[in-house]
Amino acid sequence: METVDLTMPLDEGTPTYPDDPDTEVKDTATVDDDGYAVKRLAFGSHVGTHIDAPAHMIEGGRTLDDYPPESFVGEAVVVDVRGQEVIETDLSCLAEDTEILLFRTGHSEGYGQRYHDGFPVVSEETANEVVGSEIGILGIDSPSPDEPPYPVHEMLLSNGVLLLENLTNLGAVTGESFRCCALPLKIVDGDGAPCRVAGVVD
Ligand SMILES: [Zn+2]
Repeated sequence: METVDLTMPLDEGTPTYPDDPDTEVKDTATVDDDGYAVKRLAFGSHVGTHIDAPAHMIEGGRTLDDYPPESFVGEAVVVDVRGQEVIETDLSCLAEDTEILLFRTGHSEGYGQRYHDGFPVVSEETANEVVGSEIGILGIDSPSPDEPPYPVHEMLLSNGVLLLENLTNLGAVTGESFRCCALPLKIVDGDGAPCRVAGVVD
């Protein structure tokens, strides 16, 4: 069994979505000065590798603390969609027990200053197929599966499909059948939260 990390590192240099809050990671105590180390963390709820709950876009939608942990763990598959500007995928070839679908666009590989420009979008047809399936989480290695006015977010979140954004390292699990764990912080009334995502390959 091998466990693969699919998470972006989180620090002040992690790309934040335009107009989202900046990230702060500051020492408030250090072992050297105080005998123990503590940091103050401040960040937006959609920083780095994170989950979107329905409340992110849907008025009165479910929040993260409203989900049991098993909602964030499941049988996963990576579909390689590198090179597609509009992601169109026939989901009928996926195993029936697929609970977490991850699109590998390649966008987060070597991300930098321009991370929030020019990422591919998921077609509404493909999003509609996801809604009609057993898939509970759609993940992608880019900032978002769509652009304003966010029709894919709206369609998925209003139908109870969670979104997992800013994944990385999906090449390490492409072609594998694996279990994915994407447990977000249990933020009360959370519309989203960072998570550590791991792929567990048999
Ligand atoms: Zn988000």
